[in-house]
Amino acid sequence: MEKESTKTDIKSLSLGELQQQMEQIGEKAFRAKQIYQWMHEKLAEDFDAMSNLSKALREKLKAQYTYTCLSKEDVQISQIDGTRKYLFGLADGAVIESVLMRYEHGNSVCISSQVGCRMGCRFCASTLDGLERNLLPSEMLEQIYQIQKDIGERISNVVVMGSGEPMDNYDNLLQFIRILSSEQGLNISQRSITVSTCGIVPRMRQFADEGLQVTLALSLHAPNDAVRKTLMPVANAYPLAAVLDACRYYFEKTGRRVTFEYSLVQGVNDNLEEAAALSKLLQHMHGHVNLIPVNPIKERDFVQSDRRAVMNFKNYLEKNGIHVTIRREMGRDIDGACGQLRRRYLQKKG
Ligand code: SAH
Repeated sequence: MEKESTKTDIKSLSLGELQQQMEQIGEKAFRAKQIYQWMHEKLAEDFDAMSNLSKALREKLKAQYTYTCLSKEDVQISQIDGTRKYLFGLADGAVIESVLMRYEHGNSVCISSQVGCRMGCRFCASTLDGLERNLLPSEMLEQIYQIQKDIGERISNVVVMGSGEPMDNYDNLLQFIRILSSEQGLNISQRSITVSTCGIVPRMRQFADEGLQVTLALSLHAPNDAVRKTLMPVANAYPLAAVLDACRYYFEKTGRRVTFEYSLVQGVNDNLEEAAALSKLLQHMHGHVNLIPVNPIKERDFVQSDRRAVMNFKNYLEKNGIHVTIRREMGRDIDGACGQLRRRYLQKKG
């Protein structure tokens, strides 16, 4: 068997790194730019599609590098709003899911950052079987590339809100963002990229120092540590005060407003006392709140807050000067919370 593991994953290299590699294998530096554009702008399927490279060079590349591509295993299309849920297969047989949401202002893709997750949030399906592995930068990029090719339209927004904790795969996340927003790549503006985290404080602070312009979303889900700990094990490691300090730091360093995600669970975090505590907590944070009625998963007995509770919660926050939106439910007919499509697929197969 060929020793794939010794080959470099070419689609995960920055343009600078690719230039160095070309020099090392005795090629002119300008080849790097051509290859990079083939991969990240023209979304070539393989080395053979790179028609301005000689056959000899293409063979050399095949011998030295792996060319990561995802295979489309399944796609579910909503009849209501055109939302698409994709199931992609990776080279090692693992599967991940990604979602396309179509808005008037453009196409938004929600990508996974890991296969599975080890954060253990109680309401989330992605974490039920723990972490399988991190995704490579190329595997994060490919989710967007495959979807853009599938629909034949440009993707304008990317949210790293699928399965996985992006801050738990930090270096690959950063490389992914740099390639995605690079001029010779899809050139998606960093302001159109959102990274969502459960609140890993040291990484959030590091992220603030990277000189990026991406939006940070924090999965808050509770106005105090006691309730938060019942929903999110990570709250035991990082108290809310430290998490919010890191959000403040992110805003100071980047000028970007932080989004606070708050999934409403009936009887757990959705009464008006909690709304009051939340408005107090976020008073000077310059952020905005995104309310999400929790999407129940069958492995847990959490119940979605009813419409009235959601509206009351929202109105309370607004009256207290907090900017708040309710997450539009997309693709209700192909529903299933984060990670559910993958779970169903694996259970059917296994
Ligand atoms: N690990 C990252 C990103 C992935 S989850 C994070 O924690 O932010 C994206 C968002 O969906 C998070 O706010 C997460 O808490 C939320 N989420 C996960 N499962 C959910 C469910 N069943 N119902 C509602 N929100 C959910």
